[in-house]
Amino acid sequence: MTHSDSNAPVGANDSTEHTPIDTHTERLPILPLRDMVAFPMMKIPVIIAGSSATLVEEAMASDRMVGLLTVKDADVEEPQPEHLYDVGTTAKILHVRNKGDGPVVALLEGAHRFRVSAWHSGGPYLEADILRTPEVLEPGNELEALQRQLKTTVKDVLSMTPNTPEEALEVISQFDDALQLTYVAATNVNLSAETRQSLLEIDSVVDKIRELLAHLSHEKEMLDIGRRIQSEIREKMDNSKREFFLRQQLDAIKKELGETESGSAESDEYRDRITQSRMSDEARKEALKEMERLEQMSPQSAEYPMIRTYLDWLLDLPWAAVSEERGDVPAARGVLDSDHFGLEEVKERLIEFIAVRSLMKERNSLENPGDTGAMGVILCLVGPPGVGKTSLGRSVARAMGREFTRMSLGGVRDESEIRGHRRTYIGAMPGRIIQGIKRAGTRNPVFMLDEIDKIGQDWRGDPSSALLEVLDPAQNSAFRDHYLDVDFDLSDVIFIATANQLDTIPGPLRDRMEIIQIDGYTEMEKLQIAKRHLIPRQIMAHSLREDEVTFMEDAVLKIIRDYTREAGVRSLERHLAAICRKGIVHLNEQGWTHVVITDAMVRQYLKRERFESEISEAIRIPGIATGLAVTSVGGDILYIEASKMAGKGRLTLTGKLGDVMKESAEIAFSYVRSKAEQLHIDPDIFETTDVHLHVPAGALPKDGPSAGVAMVMALAGLFTNRPVRSDVGITGEITLRGRVLPVGGIKMKVLAAHRAGLSTVILPRRNEKDLDDIPREVADAMTFILAERLDDVLEAAF
Ligand code: ADP
Repeated sequence: MTHSDSNAPVGANDSTEHTPIDTHTERLPILPLRDMVAFPMMKIPVIIAGSSATLVEEAMASDRMVGLLTVKDADVEEPQPEHLYDVGTTAKILHVRNKGDGPVVALLEGAHRFRVSAWHSGGPYLEADILRTPEVLEPGNELEALQRQLKTTVKDVLSMTPNTPEEALEVISQFDDALQLTYVAATNVNLSAETRQSLLEIDSVVDKIRELLAHLSHEKEMLDIGRRIQSEIREKMDNSKREFFLRQQLDAIKKELGETESGSAESDEYRDRITQSRMSDEARKEALKEMERLEQMSPQSAEYPMIRTYLDWLLDLPWAAVSEERGDVPAARGVLDSDHFGLEEVKERLIEFIAVRSLMKERNSLENPGDTGAMGVILCLVGPPGVGKTSLGRSVARAMGREFTRMSLGGVRDESEIRGHRRTYIGAMPGRIIQGIKRAGTRNPVFMLDEIDKIGQDWRGDPSSALLEVLDPAQNSAFRDHYLDVDFDLSDVIFIATANQLDTIPGPLRDRMEIIQIDGYTEMEKLQIAKRHLIPRQIMAHSLREDEVTFMEDAVLKIIRDYTREAGVRSLERHLAAICRKGIVHLNEQGWTHVVITDAMVRQYLKRERFESEISEAIRIPGIATGLAVTSVGGDILYIEASKMAGKGRLTLTGKLGDVMKESAEIAFSYVRSKAEQLHIDPDIFETTDVHLHVPAGALPKDGPSAGVAMVMALAGLFTNRPVRSDVGITGEITLRGRVLPVGGIKMKVLAAHRAGLSTVILPRRNEKDLDDIPREVADAMTFILAERLDDVLEAAF
């Protein structure tokens, strides 16, 4: 072997190294390479298998060079000489790695180019005589230029090749030897085995570089195209992503503007809901008709949202939703008793109502469906504020297992508030009945019509006639709201009306209703209501515990007497709430765990009493009498003042008196004049005196005949110069001849007299039976004087 040191570096300028100098052959074992080509000066890893293993073993042992030849057809299993190219590279085996069960890999380093001159057969592996054929180097400008070109091109190509490490580019610039550079480039860029083989076979280095450059520029073009395709794909993806987002935004904007592209999806949804809804056939037909109009309409049109609102109303109404009704008396009684103290008669009447209703419903539906006659009873709870009308209504609903809903008729003057506006109006809405039904969520709620006595009436239409239709069982199974314009069945609704006063309820309405009067509570009843219901409720409402606040009885009575003057318990409840609030502050500030509310604490918490015993105010001067009246807040006392002055016998009346009351005053004046002699009054005095009669107490309008007797008393006292007893309350209508006629509201008036601290009540004899309704504790505390004629009572009052 002439070339013992094959590792010696190959100098680029040492052209002699590459010139054929040697023509003698040597015999080398041949290691076939699949799909790869070995170049001189390059390291190459080779997987060793089959006969190659023996070859490598023996070569290693004898430190022999091997010849590397590439297989022409990689599929051949055991390549024979004819399967191999005959130009290859001699190489030295650097080491062999045999790791576990992985393949055996030998790392070889190429030395010289050779050509096979003869094959030897018969051995365990191929052997051939080879002839070294060094490359031909022609130094000069051309080579230098090509060499530079090669460097840049290789760098370009490598930088375009994905996953090329940075260092690879660096390394390329370091090779100054043209041949070495050529082989490094050919090894590192992506070339087929055939191309590499053909590069190896070219003798001239200049030609080699030319050939390599041709391949590289092709490769570069390929990479370029690849890159372009890549970026085109990326751009396409970016575009489609962008488009996706833009489209989404567009949808959102359209939705905002109500012109959903998904408009058809929306109308599909409506259609589904309409067909699945349990609305009446008439309503469904109407809804589908509107649906068709909607579909044909631009979402921008002004009518579009109106139709949608209309459809929503139809869909939201409880066409078929009903509460399962309960009608058993013991349970109903339980509910009413647990919610309310006292009110025995009222509760009894409500229980009858519940029982009858459930029986009728059962029988009617079996025997003569459609006959709702007796079911059409409308209850009307009449009484002052705060006596529990609303809460009774709620209890009835609870006892019957129904929903509760209410509407106030106070100040309703327009039929359309009850029955709705026609849809042609801008902003039209269903009336309050339909709104209430929707709120209830069932079609059989207990529906409370509050303040039916305050319903108005004017040119816009009479709301009470609309209400009559609502309440009439013969008509209300097909109640037609103007807005809905389809029938809705109200026949399963239980209507309960409330009113403060009976006399302002329009006649036809009153005729339809069964009146249940609640007159107000006595002190003791209020005390019980407070103890059993209001106090526990307020304690809970203020998140207190029962053991933290104790109300003494005296304290509650003090509130009732000195801080409230009412028939009901509303103001009482408010004061109890105020005390709870102050109690909480006290607990907090003092670090107490318990507050006991005594009457002294009430004074401390609520400050000055609002009502000191009012009768002391009624100074004992002639010309004043205490009347009793029923107002919208229950019974009340009413002072009647008369004074005289020089004049011509005229009567002046003030205090917002109604016509009937004015007439009463005139009758009273005439009566006193006619009785002048009997009363020891100088008859001439009427010629020279004017009389002024005034009924104070705010600017409240007052009317009714029941102050007649009190007016006579005031005038008689004035002219006889005798004061009327200030602890006497007086009620009764009078005739010119001095008869005393019966009046209404006795219980309320007596309760008010008692509240105000009066001890005696003068009332018409014909009202005697009404005294049975007066609670014992009040009746026992009062004296009643029954009058048939004025003569009977004139004396009693002075
Ligand atoms: P109204 O509707 O007659 O004006 P409310 O029903 O609003 O009166 O009653 C006012 C408050 O007084 C409610 O908290 C109610 O529960 C309570 N209340 C009235 N009467 C009673 C009673 N007899 N028993 C228990 N609580 C009552």
